[in-house]
Amino acid sequence: MAGRIPQQFIDDLLTRIDIIDVIDSYVTLRKAGRNHQARCPFHDEKTPSFTVSQEKQFYHCFGCGAHGTAISFLMDYTGMNFVEAIEDLASRAGLEVPREGGVFHEDKNITELYELMELVVRFYCRQLREHPDAARAVEYLKSRGIDGQLAAGFELGYAPPGWENLITALGTSNASLLRLAKTGMIINRDNGGYYDRFRDRIIFPIRDQRGRAIGMGGRVLDNDDTPKYLNSPETPIFHKGRELYGLYQARRNKHDLQQLYIVEGYMDVLALSQHGVHNSVATLGTAVTEDHLQQ
Ligand code: ZN
Repeated sequence: MAGRIPQQFIDDLLTRIDIIDVIDSYVTLRKAGRNHQARCPFHDEKTPSFTVSQEKQFYHCFGCGAHGTAISFLMDYTGMNFVEAIEDLASRAGLEVPREGGVFHEDKNITELYELMELVVRFYCRQLREHPDAARAVEYLKSRGIDGQLAAGFELGYAPPGWENLITALGTSNASLLRLAKTGMIINRDNGGYYDRFRDRIIFPIRDQRGRAIGMGGRVLDNDDTPKYLNSPETPIFHKGRELYGLYQARRNKHDLQQLYIVEGYMDVLALSQHGVHNSVATLGTAVTEDHLQQ
């Protein structure tokens, strides 16, 4: 991390973006006279008392007193910290965030890892639809009451049997192999070379609050196989003790999320969602941490 973000940049940024667009991307706003309105995302209510002023670039709730700018909205609504909120707004405005003592670039290598993880998600999703062995995975999901629509909503995938499916698909150069290894999707062999971490498993992609794919969970098809669940290891973009599976989907499903159930695992989140309970999240094989509660 570089130095502080200059105040002048923050002031300019707030004039470049429109708070209406920012809030409307999470909470559907309706125009009402000079302002925009919605049911307040910060307290439970039947009639809208949450208003957003385009002119003043402020929101205010007459019910609970919630009040602030696009920055405080992102922080309070999504749990982003201050710097993350600035970075989010800057990327909406197509700006780089400058730092005192030089322009700060998100490490190019980190950006590449996020991009690669999207390809991995798509690869495993496609295998669930197309691979000749995927029928077993589909059967298993059906036996647990998970239908195609829910599986698609959570982007469930299938890692076929075999040691080099992902490597063959995405590890076409030394550089791409190194990146795949950095994401934890493939593992370095002691005697050189790599192999796929996830084999013959149902894949649960894990997204962060901003919707970026950061890791995977994998479940065996046969209960006798071990370990029953396997997660991505800690990587530069994946920190188990901080992330909650299903939070991104829960927010997308319900904009004014007031409550969350914390459950044990992926399948619990899916089973609840299948029965209409869309506000549940799972920790990733760890006890609940303070970071989880912050999220
Ligand atoms: Zn309110």
